[in-house]
Amino acid sequence: MTRRAVTKLTFYGGVAEIGGNKILLEDRDARIFLDMGAPFDLGEDYFVEFLGPRDRFGLRDYFALDLMPRIPGLYSAEALLPTDMAYEPPAFSGIFITHVHYDHTQHLRYVDPTIPVHLGEGARTILESLDTTARTPMMRLGSHAYATFRSGQSTTLDGVEIEPVHVDHSAPAAYGYLVHTSAGTVAYTGDLRHHGPMKRLTEDFIEAARAAKPIALITEGTRVAPDDPRGSLAEADVKENAIRLLGSAKDKLALVTFPGRDVDRIRTFFETAQAVGRKFVANAKTAHLLMTLKKDTHIQVPDIAKESDFFLYDRQMRKVDPWERELQDKLGDRVVTAEEMAKRPSEFLVQLDFWHLPELVDLRPPAGSPFIHSKSEPFEEDDVNDAVLQHWLDRFHLRRHQLHASGHLSEREVGEMIRAIDPKIVLPVHTEHPERFTQIARHVVQPDRTRPTELP
Ligand SMILES: [Zn+2]
Repeated sequence: MTRRAVTKLTFYGGVAEIGGNKILLEDRDARIFLDMGAPFDLGEDYFVEFLGPRDRFGLRDYFALDLMPRIPGLYSAEALLPTDMAYEPPAFSGIFITHVHYDHTQHLRYVDPTIPVHLGEGARTILESLDTTARTPMMRLGSHAYATFRSGQSTTLDGVEIEPVHVDHSAPAAYGYLVHTSAGTVAYTGDLRHHGPMKRLTEDFIEAARAAKPIALITEGTRVAPDDPRGSLAEADVKENAIRLLGSAKDKLALVTFPGRDVDRIRTFFETAQAVGRKFVANAKTAHLLMTLKKDTHIQVPDIAKESDFFLYDRQMRKVDPWERELQDKLGDRVVTAEEMAKRPSEFLVQLDFWHLPELVDLRPPAGSPFIHSKSEPFEEDDVNDAVLQHWLDRFHLRRHQLHASGHLSEREVGEMIRAIDPKIVLPVHTEHPERFTQIARHVVQPDRTRPTELP
C-alpha cells in the first residue's frame, strides 16, 4: 500500500439521511471503515413489498441501479461474482461497528469475510442470535472475521489506534469511537442518547472525547430537526406509564409492540407485566435473543429459563425451526397459544408485532383492550403499514397508546455535547437536517458523498 500524506474521511452513507452509516477513514497505511449500514429507504424508488433486489445475484441489481458504491477490495467474491465488477483482494485494515442496528450493520452481508470486523462482545452475541432467527436469507450477515472488545480496549491497525468508548443507545453494547490518527483524534458518536437507564455511559464517551481534544467530531443528529416527533420520554417513563395504563385495564388483554433489538424495552415490558401481575408473552425471536444474551454477563436480561412469569408465544406454525423447537422444549409449560390466552385475557401482556397482527383473530381481545405502540411514531402521514395497523386496531376495537423513549439525543443535547467536546470541526451524519447544525455548532463541515473530506 502507498503512504498517504493526508488523513481523510469518505462518507459512503449517512449523509443527509438517518442511517446507512458507512464512513471510510484513511490515515497513512490504515484504511478503516466506521460502520457498514444499509439506509432504511435503500432502493425504495424501485422496490416495494415483495418486489426486491434479486439476492441470488449478489450486488448485481444494486450496482445496476446505482444503489451501492463500487468500492474495490471491500466486497466478497460471492457478492461480486454475478456483477460486472471484478473481485479484488481485501484492501481495508478493518471495520468498526458501533452497534447492532440494521442501519449500521446490514451491508456486512456483502463484505469480504476475511476483513476483520471489530465490535463489542455483547454486540457480537446479539448478531449471532439475529442471524440464527432470521426468517429470510436477506437478513443474515453471514460469517465474518469478528474480533470483539469491551469498553476502553483499544485496537491498533496499520499504525492507527481505535479506542471504543461505550454509549447508551436503544441497543445494548453500543459504542462510540476515538480514532487516534497522525493528524489528531477523530471522534465518532455512533448513535447515542442521554435519557436511558445507562446514561452514564454516554457521559463517559463525551468526557473521553473531550479529553482527547479531537480535530473532528462525526456526530449523529437524528433528532436535529425543525420538529421532533420522537418525543422526550425516558425509558423509566415508558415503564411508569405502562404500569398505570395496564392498572386500569384489568379485564382486558394487554398487547404491546416494540423494536426487536431493544433489550431495555424488552426488560421494561417484562417488568411492567410483573408489576401488574400479568405474564409476559414474548415472540420466539425475543425469547431467543434473551436466552443468547444470558451468556453475556455484562448485559442485564431476565433469565427466561427460570422466570415463572415469562412465557413463549406458540403461533402453531406448520414447520418449527430447530432453534424455536429448542426454546419450546426449554420453557415447557410456559409455552402458550392464542386460544389459551383468549380464555384468560386478563392474565397476559402479549408482544404482538406488525407481521403477527392476524393472531388477533385467535387472541380475540375484549373490546377496549390496550395496544401499546412502543416505537417511533410513523414519520410520514401516508405510512401504509401504519394505516394497516390502524385498520386491525379498529376492527378489534383496541385502544392505541403511544409510549416510546427515543434512542437519540435531542437537538439541544447534541448542541450541549458538541460544546462539551469542543472539536475543531463538526461533521453531521445520520440526520435529515445537516444544515441545522450551523445553528447549534461552530465550524460545521458538511460531508460530501462524492468526494473525501481532508482533515487539516
Ligand atoms: Zn442508526
